[in-house]
Amino acid sequence: MLYLHIPFCVKKCRYCDFLSGPYPEEVRKKYLKALLEEIRCRCGELSEKTVTSIFFGGGTPSLLEPEEVEAVLGECRKYLFIRADAEITMECNPGTADRRKLDGYREAGVNRLSLGLQSPREEELRLLGRIHTWERFLETYSQAREAGFDNVNIDLMSALPGQDLRKWKENLGRILALDPPPEHLSIYSLILEEGTELFEMERKGLLCGELALPSEDEDREMYHATAGILKDYGYQQYEISNYARPGYACRHNCGYWTRREYLGFGVGAASLLGEKRFSNERDIQKYMEDPCAGRQEEVLETEDIVEEFMFLGLRMTEGVGRKEFRERFGKSMDEVYGDVIRKNCGDGLLMDDGERIRLTERGLDLANYVMAQFLSREDG
Ligand code: SF4
Repeated sequence: MLYLHIPFCVKKCRYCDFLSGPYPEEVRKKYLKALLEEIRCRCGELSEKTVTSIFFGGGTPSLLEPEEVEAVLGECRKYLFIRADAEITMECNPGTADRRKLDGYREAGVNRLSLGLQSPREEELRLLGRIHTWERFLETYSQAREAGFDNVNIDLMSALPGQDLRKWKENLGRILALDPPPEHLSIYSLILEEGTELFEMERKGLLCGELALPSEDEDREMYHATAGILKDYGYQQYEISNYARPGYACRHNCGYWTRREYLGFGVGAASLLGEKRFSNERDIQKYMEDPCAGRQEEVLETEDIVEEFMFLGLRMTEGVGRKEFRERFGKSMDEVYGDVIRKNCGDGLLMDDGERIRLTERGLDLANYVMAQFLSREDG
C-alpha cells in the first residue's frame, strides 16, 4: 500500500488542522520534485513488492495536473509492481478539477475519487470555510461520472454548528438523491481541533444561538439516523464512520485497520514497515531540501502491535478474528484479553460468536471507551 501526501490547498478551511495550506506555484513544483526523489530512494523498503492500493491524500491532490499524477505513478511503477486491479484513490475538492483533469487522472490510472463535499448546505459550507458551493460540487460530481469514475466516495460532516436532526436528514437526502448515488460515504462528526478558526470561535463564545453546536445526544441521534437511513438505501456500515455499497469498501483504509504494511511519501507522511513506524519530516522547507532525511523511527514492542491490532480491528464492523490473532501473535486472544472481552460482552458493548468479537450497536457509540480497555490490559 502506498500513500502520497499532497499538502496544497486553495485556502485553509476553518476546522482543519491537517498538514496542508496554500503554497505558491514554485513551491508546488519543488515539492513534486522532492516527492519523486523520495519515491526513488524509499520504494525498495516495502517488503510486499506488489501494490494493491495507492492513495493520494492531502491537502487537495486534485490541484495536481494529470501529468504530475502520471509522473508520480510512473515513478512508483519503476520500483514496484502495481497490480492491474489496484485501487488508486485521489482526494478531490469540488471546483479544483474540471473534465480535462478528471479525464487525465483516469488515464493516469486513478480509479477511485474521494470528493470532499462536507455539506450540501451553503451556509454550512461557508461556516466551514470551504471554497466550493453545492452547485460546484454537482458540476464536479457529474463530470467525474462522465469521465468514467464508477467508484466515488463523498466526505460529509455531521454535528455542525446550527445543525439539528432535521437538517442532517435533509443533507443526507440530497446526497442519496444524486443520480447515480455515491458508492461510498465517509461521515465524521465535527471535532473542534485546537488552533483552528472554529476552535477559536467556540472559545470566544461565538458558536451560540443559531450557531450552537449540537449536544452529545443530538450527535448520537444523527449517527443512529445515518446508519438506519443508509442501510435502507443498501449501504453497509463497515467501519465506525464509513459506509459502502456491497463490494465498494475502501481497500486502502481497510488495509490501515488491519495493520497492513504501507509506505507514505511526502511531508509528514507516516509509514508502517514490519515492526517499525516512521514519520516523515513535518517542515515542508526541510522536507524539500532533503526528502529522504529527517524521518523519525519508532520501534514497536509486541504489546504495541497487539493493542493496535485490537483497537484498529474493532473499528471495523466485522471485528477481529480469534484465528488471525493466534496466527499473528502465537497465543490466544482470550489469554491476553479474556477478562476485557467477558466484561464488555456482559455490558452489551461487544458481541462474541466464538470466532470473532465485534462492537455492538451500543459499543459503536462508546467505541473509545471500549477500545481504551484494550490499551490498558495486563498481559496474560
Ligand atoms: S481542503 Fe481539506 S486539507 Fe485543505 S484546508 Fe480544507 S479540510 Fe484541510
